[in-house]
Amino acid sequence: MKLSNDKVCFNFSKTNKPVLHTAAPASVTIQTLDCFSNQLRKEDDKLQSLDWDRINPATGPVYVEGAMPGDTLKVTVEQINLDTLGTVCCCKGDGVLGHMLEGEYLHVMNITDDYADFLGKYKLPLRKMIGVIGVAPKEGSINNGTPGMHGGNMDTAMITEGAVLYLPVFVEGALFGLGDVHSVMGDGEIGVSGLETPAEVTVKLEVIKGKAPEYPIIENENSFAVIVSKETVDEAIRYATKLMCLFLEERSSLSRPDIIMLMSLVGDVQISQVVDPQKTARFVFPKKYMDKREF
Ligand code: CA
Ligand code: ZN
Repeated sequence: MKLSNDKVCFNFSKTNKPVLHTAAPASVTIQTLDCFSNQLRKEDDKLQSLDWDRINPATGPVYVEGAMPGDTLKVTVEQINLDTLGTVCCCKGDGVLGHMLEGEYLHVMNITDDYADFLGKYKLPLRKMIGVIGVAPKEGSINNGTPGMHGGNMDTAMITEGAVLYLPVFVEGALFGLGDVHSVMGDGEIGVSGLETPAEVTVKLEVIKGKAPEYPIIENENSFAVIVSKETVDEAIRYATKLMCLFLEERSSLSRPDIIMLMSLVGDVQISQVVDPQKTARFVFPKKYMDKREF
């Protein structure tokens, strides 16, 4: 099944009309625009000419049959195919160092199968990831720039090929969407942009009855991580750590104090992004120290 990039929405909401219905499990190939709706694709394009109403498009929403509130939408990222050009920018007032800039700057970078070319000087190894991915929240509408319990703009580098994302379902059909693919991005996304790249993403969608996590959980070959977005990085770290402790208690025969000691020894607090309206952190724990190594 295929979904083209002219079917986009700019918020996650239960009032958005589905552009695709699918049974589950199903693989869906989703074309995405970059976070600027492909408006900045040439080196001399200007940030100031941007139509800000078209920022952070997510392709969708996809109605997943059988997904009901309280269920879990399991999203396996099977493949991310990148365009050959990506855009990175920074400007006065935005990001961690926006106060150190005057004006606005951007580069359009060439992308090969292995690397992205920075100024003809450095070949940056690709670190493909999906910035915006989520489902409709229970109430109201959350714009695609903001991450939360529903996913959204989590800008988390772990959301890459081979990873499995578990999202809580809040509304019938889940109303899933994704966009904002980055070819390369450092943890934090400090300059407010990754290498923003149109792409084609293939995901496998499955419904797990019940078990909705409070915040999204990501699994890769070696680890599980809880991804939490809060007003501050401090709060996000604390809450992700707490949720991981509770997650492990259900999957380990160890006592709570022993789990906490083990988390302290082999678990990692990592920062996803520090530049969006809510900040995102994750707590990463290796599967090999769990008795039950499943979601
Ligand atoms: Ca983003
Ligand atoms: Zn982005």
